[in-house]
Amino acid sequence: MINLVLFGPPGAGKGTQSSYLSRAYQLVHLSTGEILRDEIAAGTEIGHKAKDIIARGELVPDTMVIDLIQLKLDKNPSAKGFLFDGFPRTVPQALALDKLLVHYGRNVSAMLSLEVTKEVLIARLMGRGTTSGRSDDADRRIIENRIEVYREKTEPLIKYYKDAGKYEAVNGEGSVEDITGRLKECIDRLPKNKKETYS
Ligand code: ADP
Repeated sequence: MINLVLFGPPGAGKGTQSSYLSRAYQLVHLSTGEILRDEIAAGTEIGHKAKDIIARGELVPDTMVIDLIQLKLDKNPSAKGFLFDGFPRTVPQALALDKLLVHYGRNVSAMLSLEVTKEVLIARLMGRGTTSGRSDDADRRIIENRIEVYREKTEPLIKYYKDAGKYEAVNGEGSVEDITGRLKECIDRLPKNKKETYS
């Protein structure tokens, strides 16, 4: 069983890498950004509440994403493992995730942190904004705000996972394939008991 947190600032490549890794290791991919965008598209009450917050580049309330993740964990009781993408994003979210996973007899195996310079992040996000249709990718000020929110609220999680002995830094620059390779090396180095159900 393996449960991974794929971590990094907006534009670090979490979504792209998650789709490769979830296939390679048969993990259920849970992206809170995607889940929230689905809620918006479906016109739900949650989507309605999240829409403006996301457009401003702020974080939605912790309780909202924690409840959404709990629903997904409930729906996938026999999953070999999970790949969390864009979650947790605050220390209270990380605490809640640990607690939830204990309830399901699981734990976080590792937090893989994609390291990318600010210049590269902005260039990637501006590029993505021309094709993704995401309004939060189209405006440089919103992008800078998201990176600022990341520094202030999300980066402290590095210490949280370092203290737990679960932090792994990975160079997030270069070709998609190279980055996937680096991530896989990290995953394959994890102690055997953390990945026995897929090996
Ligand atoms: P990116 O990593 O490029 O910012 P995401 O798809 O992960 O993209 O997130 C898009 C937006 O959704 C975030 O800017 C934020 O408003 C909201 N969001 C996603 N995940 C969370 C979370 N765990 N906590 C709070 N807000 C979130």
